[in-house]
Amino acid sequence: MFADRAKIAVKSGKGGDGHVSFRREKFVAAGGPDGGNGGNGGSVIFEVDPGLNTLASFRHHYKFKAEDGQEGGKRRCTGKDGADVILKVPDGTVIYEAQSGKVIADMSGKNTRVVLLKGGRGGKGNMNYATPTMQVPKYAQPGQPSRELELRLELKMIADVGLIGFPSVGKSTLLSRVSNAQPKIAEYHFTTLIPNLGVVDLEGCNGFVMADIPGLIEGASAGAGLGYEFLRHIERCRMLIHLVDAAGTEGRDPVEDIYTINGELKKYNANLEKLPQVIAANKVDLIFPEDGTEDPVERLKKEFEPKGIRVFPISAATGKGIKELLYYVQNRLDEIPKNTELYAQEFDPEIMIPEDNLPYTVTKSKTEDHTYIVEGPKIEKMLGYTNLDSEKGFQFFQKFLKDSGILSDLEKAGIQDGDTVRMYGLHFDYYK
Ligand code: GDP
Ligand code: MG
Repeated sequence: MFADRAKIAVKSGKGGDGHVSFRREKFVAAGGPDGGNGGNGGSVIFEVDPGLNTLASFRHHYKFKAEDGQEGGKRRCTGKDGADVILKVPDGTVIYEAQSGKVIADMSGKNTRVVLLKGGRGGKGNMNYATPTMQVPKYAQPGQPSRELELRLELKMIADVGLIGFPSVGKSTLLSRVSNAQPKIAEYHFTTLIPNLGVVDLEGCNGFVMADIPGLIEGASAGAGLGYEFLRHIERCRMLIHLVDAAGTEGRDPVEDIYTINGELKKYNANLEKLPQVIAANKVDLIFPEDGTEDPVERLKKEFEPKGIRVFPISAATGKGIKELLYYVQNRLDEIPKNTELYAQEFDPEIMIPEDNLPYTVTKSKTEDHTYIVEGPKIEKMLGYTNLDSEKGFQFFQKFLKDSGILSDLEKAGIQDGDTVRMYGLHFDYYK
């Protein structure tokens, strides 16, 4: 099991309903409305925790829910706000909407905190709705409903340099030798199930982050084996160190190995092939050239250096040649700008308008002249979503009246210019 991907469901808290109540005073039959506002629902928030480097904490937990806001109370009491749910993820986590596959947020670099789903706003209590014409409002605004999303989380680590190559060529050995990381080292293929990150500190240089990408094998880009799972980690590297077993201890040919792995990279994502590479011809301590056979390091150089890919003979086991390799890599990196490009947002949970076919009624008031009343759950829900004080909200409100058919229903009911429309606590004059 590796924890660089997770599927979870998140739910924001519902806003508490506004309350309907009336002041009770001695000797006063019915006091004014004193129903308080509902509390706001909790939000779903993502935060980067620099101490994390896997999504393991999401492996056994699928559903995350923020708390609902509480209902408003008597005597103008506001309901308690619901608690947020805060989800900690490693730097480099991209959050996708699961159904559409669209990016909601990229938790990389400076983007360390995102309110993914805002909690529902608490509804207004009836204390807000007393007007000269309506002194005993028996309605309050319901809280905004909670919202749910299914998310896919993907960790795309941000290493400067990725180590690629067949299993057992010495990637983990090299990383542990040159950095603070302590990856598992073994002869077994695929022992490295979680990509390891290490910081390489070179004297007099900036240093860089190196990632050990678990074994790439033939067919990886087509999904065979585990290799494919890890290719996404190198998408954001600035450079690749292509490790090869120059001694051919497993019986393969080092030149062919390089072509095979590069073929896999290209199949997965054509951009990966364009990343600058340097070849580290590893295990040179095991090369004992026989008479008449060409030194494998020379063969690699002849093949790849004319193509602009430098070849460094190294031994991750003894440390030979490693310094030269690292200084070369550092110098190349200094010329390549840091990859700070984030995945652009493609999906905004805030503008998901809830689908609704809730009822409403349009009636001419029996008690007030030139007044039309529009009410019903559809209106309450819309008002819960819309902040009429903002220009955007007001535009939405006008569009809503038109699109939902309320305007034409008012006209059918006989409304004339200058008549009043009442929707719960809201009054406005109608003009065509
Ligand atoms: P990875 O699968 O690419 O991460 O390879 P590992 O780092 O786990 O190494 C696989 C095996 O090769 C281990 O037994 C290492 O000790 C060995 N190894 C790695 N580098 C060298 C080297 O330069 N010389 C020799 N002789 N063995 C090495
Ligand atoms: Mg390894």
